[in-house]
Amino acid sequence: MIAGTHPIRAFLDEAHLRFAADTADFCAREIAPRAEPPSDADARAEARALLGIMGRARLFEPLREGSWRKVCLVREALGASSPLADAVYALQGLGALPIFFSENTWMRERWGDGAIEGTLLAAFAMTEPEAGSDVAALKTAARHDGPGYVLDGTKTLISNAGIADFYTTFASTDPAAGGKGISCFVVPADSPGFRFVGPQVLSAAHPLGDIAFEGCRVSERNRLGEEGRGYALGLRTLDRMRATVGAAACGMAARALDEALRHARGRRQFGKPIAEFQLVQEKLARMATDLTAARLLVYRAAWAADHGAERVTLESSMAKAYATEAAQRIVDDAVQILGGSGVLASHPVDRLYRAVRALRIYEGTTEIQHLVIAGHLTRETGA
Ligand SMILES: Cc1cc2nc3c(=O)[nH]c(=O)nc-3n(C[C@H](O)[C@H](O)[C@H](O)COP(=O)(O)OP(=O)(O)OC[C@H]3O[C@@H](n4cnc5c(N)ncnc54)[C@H](O)[C@@H]3O)c2cc1C
Repeated sequence: MIAGTHPIRAFLDEAHLRFAADTADFCAREIAPRAEPPSDADARAEARALLGIMGRARLFEPLREGSWRKVCLVREALGASSPLADAVYALQGLGALPIFFSENTWMRERWGDGAIEGTLLAAFAMTEPEAGSDVAALKTAARHDGPGYVLDGTKTLISNAGIADFYTTFASTDPAAGGKGISCFVVPADSPGFRFVGPQVLSAAHPLGDIAFEGCRVSERNRLGEEGRGYALGLRTLDRMRATVGAAACGMAARALDEALRHARGRRQFGKPIAEFQLVQEKLARMATDLTAARLLVYRAAWAADHGAERVTLESSMAKAYATEAAQRIVDDAVQILGGSGVLASHPVDRLYRAVRALRIYEGTTEIQHLVIAGHLTRETGA
């Protein structure tokens, strides 16, 4: 869906449907026409520009309000229009939510509100060279020093590395305690001892890189929540954001289906439109069914979060795992239906093909989501 009425009405009310249509129209008008940046350096500049555009349009506001169906609707529209804009949006959520959840008023006013208004670019620094899926194994240390902390360690695969204004960072204040020793800090990019090591370049436009903390000083008030509660803060953030990754995947899949349908109706081979061949129809039918199933899981999770569920871990994991895997299949089928034109770098489905892959990996791989789901099942059945 790029514009028009959202097809999932079961979990949305009239105000959501109006919001969906307005947001989709805005993204189709203001974001979709922007060219894909040709280089990593251009992607970094474009990420800043997109931040300002989305901030002025108040697209980040649902993150501050905790309105999860609206966040999903925004991410769907962005996924369909510009995967880079969606990545910028995701990081504003990941970087700012721990600030809002920790109820640290000073940090909220200093960093959180600017992230929502689109004046400050956020980053979320959790992954390390030796701690990916196994987050509790992270080694970055934060030790007390006078009135604050000194951080030492490295982080890798960090979106917005090198361009963010602040990094919501996870570091251990008690290495012997594992996950229960992890604390969360806001590290401003100009902190003494903070260093952008260098970019990691993807085939999709997405600013990413390595960062290092080398005797990096932050004050005590930059700590979010209590010492040792950072991991819980990170998990609470992922609990809310994972379903919204599924929404972005739905947006990319919807755009791919749209492009495939348009092509299948117009392209003639063997004397008729390829849409009349049953093997093509079978693909289109599977794509549409997969997309609908993915959307139902995504909006079910968001609906539960909007209705006061303390945790939507199971719903979010199902939504993220299913929607991102489905989107990969749908985008791949769209490329196939497009034939040779689908692998040209200039075509929207090629852009989606390069962008959709990472969604199955970040914010917890599909395998980790499946472990979460299986954990719920086996606990419930007492296995
Ligand atoms: C584009 C992109 C942007 C990212 N942005 C950020 C960011 O902004 N901030 C941040 O902190 N991180 C970010 N990441 C990192 C991302 O969160 C990690 O890549 C992810 O958590 C997986 O960690 P890993 O890459 O170390 O893989 P590993 O954990 O080494 O996993 C490798 C493979 O092993 C599997 N595996 C691991 N453990 C198990 C298990 N117990 N059972 C079954 N299979 C298992 C995984 O599913 C995967 O298939 C980003 C990654 C990408 C690709």
